[in-house]
Amino acid sequence: MICVECGKKTEKLYNGLCLDCYLRSKKFFHFPSRIVARVCRNCGAYKIDGEWRHESLEKIVEGYIRKNIKGIDCNLEIDFEKGIARCTGNFEGRKIVEEGRFEIVIRKRLCEKCSLMKGGYFEAILQIRKKNLSKKMEKEMEDIIKKRVEDANSFIMKKERVGEGLNYYIGSKKVAHSIARELKNVYKAEYKSSSSLVGMKDGVEVYRDTYLIRLPDYKIGTFIKLNDMVYRIEAIGRKIELLSLEGNKRYIYKDEMKKAKIMDLKERDAIILHEEKNGTYVMDLETYKTYFVNKTGKEKDKIKIVEYDGRIYVIG
Ligand SMILES: [Zn+2]
Ligand SMILES: [Zn+2]
Repeated sequence: MICVECGKKTEKLYNGLCLDCYLRSKKFFHFPSRIVARVCRNCGAYKIDGEWRHESLEKIVEGYIRKNIKGIDCNLEIDFEKGIARCTGNFEGRKIVEEGRFEIVIRKRLCEKCSLMKGGYFEAILQIRKKNLSKKMEKEMEDIIKKRVEDANSFIMKKERVGEGLNYYIGSKKVAHSIARELKNVYKAEYKSSSSLVGMKDGVEVYRDTYLIRLPDYKIGTFIKLNDMVYRIEAIGRKIELLSLEGNKRYIYKDEMKKAKIMDLKERDAIILHEEKNGTYVMDLETYKTYFVNKTGKEKDKIKIVEYDGRIYVIG
């Protein structure tokens, strides 16, 4: 076979050409030359095609070039300063290196999420209610809320402080719902949801959801007074498990907690020093005071004690 270009004899032709002539005339890679990137002027997300993404411009441009190179397999290198993309590939055992120049054009916009948010859009209100909500707990909850919202690429349109809690206006119902469920489980909170019609959009009824999370004033370890008895809360499930200072267990419904008074008692670490027939000597590890208490029946060295009404009780 003969190359139509140079007349050389060859065993294989590529479009009528020998390999050398073919490689000289052929462009293996086609690089995108003008890349229009949109940047959100509110949140800094980038988009070239597809989704808005919170990644560096370089990473997004690289992904775009890689996706748009046409030709054989390419080992891509990019020099962002010079605006050069270089592809190294292989054809019939020959190394192919080609370069393409590109420029990036930046356009400032608002991403869909930010334009909804700036427009005051929200689908659900998450109402969190708690008496004397501490800063620490507020932060802890807000971390959960923010993480869920970010993971789902939604937004918090507004945060509002009200009498006994906070309202979060959230972009997506689905996210608000999942946050409410998580807070309910984490804090053993009371949970209520409701939906109300707020209007019509394009012939479809638009509903807005409200999720109410009421956090209890108590948790495991809280001491309460109920019917003149003092208990420690041991577990919170469908019912609440209580342990009296005398060591008796009792289960109550959450509703009954309304009659309970939260006690400001703190348990302390103690150790068992010596056991006797009708009682045990324990040492308070905070004050190093020694007390004689009713027999504990516990077979461990470290225990918890609580002081109530001038007496020491072993509680766990
Ligand atoms: Zn040739
Ligand atoms: Zn944005």
